[in-house]
Amino acid sequence: RELLARVGCGAGSLRALAQAGLVAITKKPRERIEFHEAPKVITLTAGQQRALEAIVQALTPAPSPIDEPRERGGRQAGVRTFLLHGINNSGKTEVYIRACQHALEHNGQAIVLVPEISLTPQLIARFRNYFGAKIAVYHSGLTDAERARHWQRLKNGEAQIAIGVRAAIFAPCPKLKLIVIDEEHESTYKQDDTVPRYHVRDVALKRAQLTGATVVLGSATPSIESYFHARHGRYRLLELTERVVPTQPPTIKIIDMRDRKNLLSPILRAKIEQRLKNNEQIILFLNRLGYSIAICRRCRQTVKCPHCQIALTVYMHEQELRCRYCGYTLKMPRCRSCGSTELVFEGGGTERLELEVHKTFPHINFRRMDSESVRRGEHAAILEAFRQGQIQLLVGTQMIGLGLDFPNVTLVGIVSADTLLDFPDFRAGERTFQLISQAAGRAGRGERPGEVIIQTRHPDNEIIQLAAAQDYRAFYKHEIALREALGYPPFTTIIFVTVEHRNEAKAHEQANRLKERLEVRKVGEVLGPARALPYRLRGRSRWQLMLKALSESAQKAVWETVTELKLADSVTVNVDPQL
Ligand SMILES: [Zn+2]
Ligand SMILES: [Zn+2]
Repeated sequence: RELLARVGCGAGSLRALAQAGLVAITKKPRERIEFHEAPKVITLTAGQQRALEAIVQALTPAPSPIDEPRERGGRQAGVRTFLLHGINNSGKTEVYIRACQHALEHNGQAIVLVPEISLTPQLIARFRNYFGAKIAVYHSGLTDAERARHWQRLKNGEAQIAIGVRAAIFAPCPKLKLIVIDEEHESTYKQDDTVPRYHVRDVALKRAQLTGATVVLGSATPSIESYFHARHGRYRLLELTERVVPTQPPTIKIIDMRDRKNLLSPILRAKIEQRLKNNEQIILFLNRLGYSIAICRRCRQTVKCPHCQIALTVYMHEQELRCRYCGYTLKMPRCRSCGSTELVFEGGGTERLELEVHKTFPHINFRRMDSESVRRGEHAAILEAFRQGQIQLLVGTQMIGLGLDFPNVTLVGIVSADTLLDFPDFRAGERTFQLISQAAGRAGRGERPGEVIIQTRHPDNEIIQLAAAQDYRAFYKHEIALREALGYPPFTTIIFVTVEHRNEAKAHEQANRLKERLEVRKVGEVLGPARALPYRLRGRSRWQLMLKALSESAQKAVWETVTELKLADSVTVNVDPQL
């Protein structure tokens, strides 16, 4: 219709063209908005008001220094990056919206970044309500033509807000005034797997520096690095400590899972049953795919990937054992060491949880939601059915916890808090704290109080305890001390240098040579080489060095060394990897 109006002819001419076979008419689904929210007048809380004022002040061009001293805002008057640390339900989105509104009123443009479009429908819906056609939404499902159209609309000023996932940070906004990064701690903001390897936060800060734009990083559980910078004056800290709707925070309970065989403890089972009786809804989180891992009954070995040396995941339905890093697959059941077919299944993933829920509560409506259902495009339908109450219980990985607001959910179970805690990465504690906080944010958003059950084999672990108490500051203090003692960010920058070669020994030898040279240059502590994950990729073996870089110049030193050794074709460098 749009096209016909532009060329100035009617539908009849189009039909004639189609009959002549010159054009084809196809039906395409319209871009759908899954969530609607009526615009309502919202009175800001005192905290929201203060935060907004600070941001607006930064957005307002300062009068010339002669008229007014620059220091009027105090020591941090010049800082244009804000960390908006707001507890769950404290109304961060409203602050983003008003800040955008201000930028637009002053003839500016804004970029708003979210970790995952399909899982943050409510935030998008609110922006649509406020700004209508002024926004251009970016997601990975856009066709090239659609993306180009959005690009054009932003460039010529027809659209004023680009809202989307990490690539939207590159949206062409000639009048850029404001960049908002919601859930700034999310690891999806780092592009780790392909070139260019970048973190959205770094790109945002650079763009802001070049254009004079203001940056707002928002989170209920900021990354340790961002909170550190906010406390030391590089960013300005804005805090929202008050809930918009004065509901009670959920009660959080830790359940000891040592010596437990089932995934659901008797307490969690009883609580689920009780909610089902009351017609309330339940979310169960489990951050592990598949059924379980397998251990040989005869030789007691965990069945591992021969390349990556990581436990293989059992997929019961497919009768397969699979490596989640390199995709190595083994037919079930079989021990790789001794050939025995008797395996014991330990630990559990979403597939096993699904079966257990089905066995325990055979008559309820429940669905599983994880990366697989998102890939199949079922997530929108599942979320909608859950919202309407057709589904009573939702089982899924952490991703379903992003920005969802279901007032009838009164129980959230973290089936295992240990999946992240036991992960060999210095951010394991941070990720665990975030998982628990996110879960807590999903429980009891309506009138009825919410409850969170944390199941763990480490009930005395300090991180679990602090997360259960929802004490971010104490957690930060604990974590920053650890990072300083062990030399992790923000005190260093982690750089992964991966060497790959068809010949296994050669890859290892080159990695060692690289290590020697780097140590001579004193750029920081060099650890490894260790097997990279995945270890085998496109027929090559990969060895990895971990550098704890002490200064910004280390990156340059790494590349110089790589070039000297003529390894540029076989080396990848990843700064600040997010596992
Ligand atoms: Zn593997
Ligand atoms: Zn065996």
